[in-house]
Amino acid sequence: MIIKDSSYAISAVREDQYPTDNLPEVALSGRSNVGKSSLINTLLNRKNLARTSAQPGKTQTLNFYLVNHAFYLVDVPGYGYAKVSQKKREQFGIMIQDYLETRANLQGLIILVDGRHEPTKNDVAMYNYALYLNIPILVVCTKIDKVKKSQQNQVLAILKQKLDLNHDNVDVVTFSSVQKLHVQEVWQWIEQNL
Ligand code: GDP
Repeated sequence: MIIKDSSYAISAVREDQYPTDNLPEVALSGRSNVGKSSLINTLLNRKNLARTSAQPGKTQTLNFYLVNHAFYLVDVPGYGYAKVSQKKREQFGIMIQDYLETRANLQGLIILVDGRHEPTKNDVAMYNYALYLNIPILVVCTKIDKVKKSQQNQVLAILKQKLDLNHDNVDVVTFSSVQKLHVQEVWQWIEQNL
């Protein structure tokens, strides 16, 4: 994918705020601090695009980034942020559900899990929910530069044990924003699904 242009387009908390230009969308989801902003910036070759409009754990909006005037990457707010109240968490669960369940433009979901740890309960719940939605899923195992080469297969084995990855519409890739590892693989998956 050649990125000719990328920009923050809009933030939304409900349907009437979503973009109206009817372009395809790929959403990204994962717990706070998993490396989602870094992945978006790495994919788009930008230093701070994702962070400027979405402070981790604070801004609880869907953030739409327009790429090449052709499609959107949609940053879904991080789940499982400890400092957010139960009520806020519920509200934003509904916001995420509304988007993922009703958005016809949505072509696929990238679920980020932290390569340094076993998937959390929330990761498993999010993944199972995405399976239920029956959309193409890419599981991205982040921060893999922090895992010794000799341990990386083990990380994938645990992931496969915790998440039922054996589905036609599910792919998995390890990723590092620091090493810029597997950036093209993520783009290929996005392109295939647009
Ligand atoms: P977000 O809350 O999911 O958007 O996470 P961020 O992208 O803000 O990253 C959270 C922290 O993890 C930051 O300190 C990043 O520098 C760090 N981080 C993100 N991606 C990587 C990565 O690939 N490797 C390493 N070692 N650290 C990363």
